[in-house]
Amino acid sequence: MRTRIAAGFVALAALLSASTAGAQLRDRLARAAGAAVVSRAPIGPAKEIEIGRNIASTLAGRYHVVHDTALVGYVNLVGQVVARMSPRANEITFRFDVLDSDDVNAFAAPGGYVFVTRGALAMMQSEAELAGVLAHEIGHVDAKHVLEKIQRADMLKSVRQEADLTGPLLDQVADLGAGAIFTGFDRREEMEADSLGQVYAAAAGYRSNGLATFLTRLHEGEQGRGAASGLRARLARTHPDLDVRLTALQRQAAAAQLDPAAGEALADRFHARMRVAPRAAARH
Ligand SMILES: [Zn+2]
Repeated sequence: MRTRIAAGFVALAALLSASTAGAQLRDRLARAAGAAVVSRAPIGPAKEIEIGRNIASTLAGRYHVVHDTALVGYVNLVGQVVARMSPRANEITFRFDVLDSDDVNAFAAPGGYVFVTRGALAMMQSEAELAGVLAHEIGHVDAKHVLEKIQRADMLKSVRQEADLTGPLLDQVADLGAGAIFTGFDRREEMEADSLGQVYAAAAGYRSNGLATFLTRLHEGEQGRGAASGLRARLARTHPDLDVRLTALQRQAAAAQLDPAAGEALADRFHARMRVAPRAAARH
């Protein structure tokens, strides 16, 4: 099955050049891959990874990671297939972990540290949906959404070079980054991560609408249960405007001529792997 996914690879550049939306994405990707973000102090990939590792330990400490080799290995397999489409794949190593939480959510720290909750896995119906969610998080890393917030922070005012970002200041910066992740992103950032994620997943050979079908299920659950659900209220806060995002995803798919029926869904493989980890499916 892995080889079928590999055979499904299409040239990312060709996909991106297919439309105006693709051209905008390509520009954004080029900036994310190369140019430094306008900042008080430039932060290169090595320092970004150091900051990200610090933030990742905060996330892992808050939720605890799942120590299930088979489950985490599978999530990594899917994540790595998608991460190969990232223009930053040569500069950072993406890592994927599962958080032991019933919350339906996913997070990404700078430097390529991606997390998905057990609760999110339990709501997914196919590997394409998992790929779509992980690709969305890779999109946040590639677009440097958290790193930009850090680089604009007042606490970096006195920092002239990234080597000064160390010790207690590094911890403060990481706290700021973790806070930004818990607070959530704005609509523009979410839609940017959606766009990148949809393209990465399709380019990796997955059915392009995996993220959209997952978001649709969340959206329907949200409407069905009402705003009183703490779980969905938290999700809505960190991932706002689900209906707006779905519309944008469909528009991008149409503009880039992504065929929703093309690519692999791999529902059976996903469910088989989830059965190996009964806790992932037992809740709710
Ligand atoms: Zn997001």
